[in-house]
Order: sequence, then C-alpha cells, then structure tokens
Amino acid sequence: IRNPRHPYTKGLLGARVELAEGRDRLITIPGAPPDLAAMPPGCAFAPRCELAREECRADVPALTRLSADSQVACILAH
Ligand code: SF4
Repeated sequence: IRNPRHPYTKGLLGARVELAEGRDRLITIPGAPPDLAAMPPGCAFAPRCELAREECRADVPALTRLSADSQVACILAH
C-alpha cells in the first residue's frame, strides 16, 4: 500500500474517497473488468491500463518477486 508498483493497484489506491477533497467525482479506472470467460491475451489489465504497450498484449507478465513480502506481474514494475 505504501509503495504500489502495479498500475491497477495504483489506480485502486488513487480512487480513495479521502483523496476526493475538492473534487465532485472520484478518480476512476476507465473501462470494465474483463470477462473471465473470455480473457484478453497478455496482461488482463492491458485494455484499461494507460501504460499498456504492444508487448503487454502479447504475453501474460511474469510474477516477479520484489522483496520478501512483495510480488508484481507487470512489465514496467521491475
Ligand atoms: S503489464 Fe502492461 S498492461 Fe499490464 S499493468 Fe503492466 S504496463 Fe499495464
């Protein structure tokens, strides 16, 4: 929570009500969650990720250990 590395986690944390001060709307992640019966190729978050690249849609990102208690599956979070 203190050092989110995945764009989806960053998006969720950015949508907290306490950060909405002065705004009439919360920051949201665009789009909708994927259909679990028809998952997109590559990273499941790619259709909604503002940082997505072509390689994100080619392969599922590997889960990489960052520390003893932290792992991430994103090509940009290494
Ligand atoms: S792998 Fe690509 S699409 Fe998936 S979260 Fe990381 S940057 Fe976004």
